[in-house]
Amino acid sequence: MQDTLNFSNWSLKKTLNTVDDPITKAKITVFYYLFLLNFPKVGALFSGYVFYGDVTQVKRAIIGIAVTVIILKLLTWKPAYLQALIFFTITSTILGIWKVIVIDHTALNVVTIQNVFMIIMWSFYGLPRRWGYFYCILAIIPIVNAVSTGSNSELFVGVPQIPMFASSFIIVLNFLIILVAHFYYRNILYNTIAESKKLNEELEQANAANTLFFSSMSHELRTPLNAVIGMASLLIDDNRDKEQKENLDILKFSAESLLSLINDILDFSKMGMGSVSLEAIPFNLKELAENVCAGLRIKANEKNLYCTTDIDPEIAELELIGDPTRISQIIYNLVGNAIKFTKKGGVSFEIKLMHRVDNLISLRFMVKDTGLGISPEQQKLIFEPFTQADVNTTRNFGGTGLGLSIVKHLLTLHNTNIDIESELGAGAVFSFDITYAVSDKKKEEVVAFNFNNSARPVSDLKVLMAEDNAMNSLLMKKLFSKWNIQLDIAENGEEAVKLVEVNDYDIILMDLQMPVMNGYEATTKIRTMTVPGKATIPIIALTASVSSDVQASIIEVGMTDFVSKPFNPNELYEKLQLIQ
Ligand code: ADP
Repeated sequence: MQDTLNFSNWSLKKTLNTVDDPITKAKITVFYYLFLLNFPKVGALFSGYVFYGDVTQVKRAIIGIAVTVIILKLLTWKPAYLQALIFFTITSTILGIWKVIVIDHTALNVVTIQNVFMIIMWSFYGLPRRWGYFYCILAIIPIVNAVSTGSNSELFVGVPQIPMFASSFIIVLNFLIILVAHFYYRNILYNTIAESKKLNEELEQANAANTLFFSSMSHELRTPLNAVIGMASLLIDDNRDKEQKENLDILKFSAESLLSLINDILDFSKMGMGSVSLEAIPFNLKELAENVCAGLRIKANEKNLYCTTDIDPEIAELELIGDPTRISQIIYNLVGNAIKFTKKGGVSFEIKLMHRVDNLISLRFMVKDTGLGISPEQQKLIFEPFTQADVNTTRNFGGTGLGLSIVKHLLTLHNTNIDIESELGAGAVFSFDITYAVSDKKKEEVVAFNFNNSARPVSDLKVLMAEDNAMNSLLMKKLFSKWNIQLDIAENGEEAVKLVEVNDYDIILMDLQMPVMNGYEATTKIRTMTVPGKATIPIIALTASVSSDVQASIIEVGMTDFVSKPFNPNELYEKLQLIQ
């Protein structure tokens, strides 16, 4: 709100132009008209002198006009005074009511009752709520007192000392003011609701556009990285030269770091948009935790650190209902950090069963390390995004400072918090509790994908891959020729469908985002083929997006499994082995 207008200003329009907030605009408008209508109202008091020769009515009218002029001037000169003017108006009206009823014991009249209504209206619409209560009580007490004691219980229609027609005129104007004020506030209320609805819709649309943007960005960024990491792996495997191998290791390590950075930033942005939600599917926590830690143990071994897991035997065979991707991410981040910030000793990861009630189990997760430790001051900061305990952290250890804020967010989605116990130089213990529902299915029944477990040599397989990225196709050709697998490549979904119609494949690897026809559409077409054996060919999605909604759509269109890009060649090999 602009503080001061030109002193000569009387225009409501100009005054309103200085205000942005619609509610304040409404208050100013109603207040302005209230006092504008005061002119005819106090003017009506002159009739008391004209008809009954009552000079006090002239004095009252002149004071009324003067006060009205001053208030209108202050409002149009300094709209920021609005609240003070409302306080003044309400207080003086209440004093008037108390004087008339409590001191003068005048009989109640309609105008007094109208004034009480106006005070109620103004104190709630115009002032902070506690003042609303305060002034309402002050205005109502004399009325209730008058009615209950019967001292001045007769309700006078008119205003004493002026003729009936003038009283009626004031009463009508008062009703008009009450009506106009409610009309204005109602409009503001409805407009605000409509506006916030519209804003919500726009926000949802923007969110959807953002999600789309992030999912295609994620695809675009991860696809070339997939080729870089894959090619580096191939070269490392084939290369005998020690120095070149070292260089390739650095190349692969950097590409993998870039990938994890991209994953973190995309995840972080998605969390900011509130578009991360948890899945509820059956999974075996022991297997999951062992797998995550097995991957990280390689890093620990490189640094000569131990990395142990201790998982309560009571949960080993249980299938829990929850989000395996997100809990893996939490464990991966915490154990990964523990290894990263430890130079001597090692890291231990524990899951303990705290208690079980019916099919609900509470688990305590604990990651302990013998590393650098975190001081109490640093502990307050490290969960903030892009914050690291020490300014030298990035230089010495890499990282962005996003990991823990993602962990914290994911734990909030799990309705829980993270605790740290640590001192500088004395290692750190990160712990949190999660309650999971236990699935009543046995572990064996929860096979996520319908692969057969009888391994057979993969070289017998005939595989079709739909992939539009030439670099990835080249990488896959090299990889598959190393495995002696026959691989046909289709550049888009439409081509893949045509190839499936004329050839017999054991398995299809399907990219999801392709020109002409995407992977979902192609899968739907293949699944509805009538030639025996075609509709049931296992289809593995190759997806750069690991989000749970993408996973859900993969299963929904009838794909058998997915491998996330950039994929681990061993993971793909194992999946191929499991197919009959
Ligand atoms: P990043 O690891 O990418 O730097 P994080 O959000 O995962 O980001 O961690 C934030 C900071 O918290 C780290 O930079 C580090 O200073 C500190 N930190 C996290 N885990 C540990 C740990 N186990 N021991 C010591 N310091 C840690």
